[in-house]
Amino acid sequence: MATSTVSTTAVTAAEAMDPAEALMAAVERADAEIVRFLWVDHNGILRGKGVTRELLADRLRTGIGLSAVRQSASLLDRPQPVPGFQVMEEVRVTADPSTFVPLPYAPGSAGLLCDLVNRDGSPWGACPRTFLRDAVARSADLGFDVIAAFEPEFTLLRDGAPLDDSLMLDGEGFDAANDCIVSLIRSLRSAGIAVEQYHPEASPGQHELTLRPAPALRAADQHVWQRAFTRGVARAHGLQASFAPVPLAGLRGNGNHVHISLWRGGNAFCAPGGGLSEVARHFIGGVLAHLPGLTALLCASVNSYERLVPGNWAGTFGCYGPDNRDAAIRVPSPLRGAETATTNIEVKVCDATANPYLALGAILHAGLDGLEHRIDPGEPLTVDPNLLSAAELLRRGVIPLPRSLAEAVEALERDELLMSVLGSPRRELYTTIKRADVRDLGGMDPGDVFALHAQRF
Ligand code: GLU
Ligand code: MG
Repeated sequence: MATSTVSTTAVTAAEAMDPAEALMAAVERADAEIVRFLWVDHNGILRGKGVTRELLADRLRTGIGLSAVRQSASLLDRPQPVPGFQVMEEVRVTADPSTFVPLPYAPGSAGLLCDLVNRDGSPWGACPRTFLRDAVARSADLGFDVIAAFEPEFTLLRDGAPLDDSLMLDGEGFDAANDCIVSLIRSLRSAGIAVEQYHPEASPGQHELTLRPAPALRAADQHVWQRAFTRGVARAHGLQASFAPVPLAGLRGNGNHVHISLWRGGNAFCAPGGGLSEVARHFIGGVLAHLPGLTALLCASVNSYERLVPGNWAGTFGCYGPDNRDAAIRVPSPLRGAETATTNIEVKVCDATANPYLALGAILHAGLDGLEHRIDPGEPLTVDPNLLSAAELLRRGVIPLPRSLAEAVEALERDELLMSVLGSPRRELYTTIKRADVRDLGGMDPGDVFALHAQRF
């Protein structure tokens, strides 16, 4: 993984001097009539309000009014009562001009990613993007820049069935989705988002497209755009794209692995002589120490737990290891000649129902906790964990992961660090919403639960 200066914005560097003016010029160039002010709710759903071109300059200054109750919505879109949370509260949807992108799959429309702030402009205690900003600030206090990339898999469906039946990395599998994928890559590029690689994945209709790593906030923003663009471009091609962990019963899951490295001058995860540094080892120690609670934020839906099948490379074993694809944390072997740039860790136990700002922010807080307390991650697992008995896994310190969203939420509530950094009312909103999903979806027909996730994500 390399450092990246790739910008997600269509605003050129020369214009970056005056963000608002540059934005207005970019809106003109994109011929956008509506600019969507977008944010991601606690269930990972992209929400928004659109502003006309004429009103944009005003709303960039004032933000847009929003009832805070929207951030208490469950997956069935029912606001949940949360103790201490005022349903009459108002927040302001405040755009970050640097995130502007035209939406080529929706001609005449463009988008901005937003923070949710209080009426007086101070940060709102349940804004997901602010949570990641805070985690990045904490990393900076310790002297580190954070470089990250989300690596989502998705399923292309036509009339509810997988688009193709190709094999993993199938040479002909490329053809099945070629038109859609090529237009997706072009659309992303036109928005300033650089794609790194693409391949057909293991399951019918499953594909994977990776973006260039970027500073943490931008990486999460890019992931939000990637999801929106993929779904929008697929729709324009008469297809449905779903990032649901398992959109149809029987399919192998869609992961959303998170690659991370900390930088201080150079790559602080890379030891001077090659291999993992002490910084990286302690960071891993922190992530492992908080893994059960983290799972509630990384595998954030009822459907997430359909994906966590041992042997499917979803990272279901609570351990780390070099190139160990069933470990929650894989340490990818660096590329020859690019060792410094490509040393990173990959948190595999994450899917795209996670709110990316909460997911990345929580991983950072856990990892930094490991650094501050010099947590020892133990020995890396260098064998296939599927071949080890339950007793042997225990002996080697492999941490059992929650097996359902209900178990994960309980683990999160037991995790003092994560509860403390989430803060109030974010933690109460999050745990209440997730419990509502467990309750509501538990009463539904299992086929409908798969379909609901396929549709929403
Ligand atoms: N589909 C797997 C998952 O659920 C990942 C396969 C891979 O390693 O690319 O995470
Ligand atoms: Mg993959």
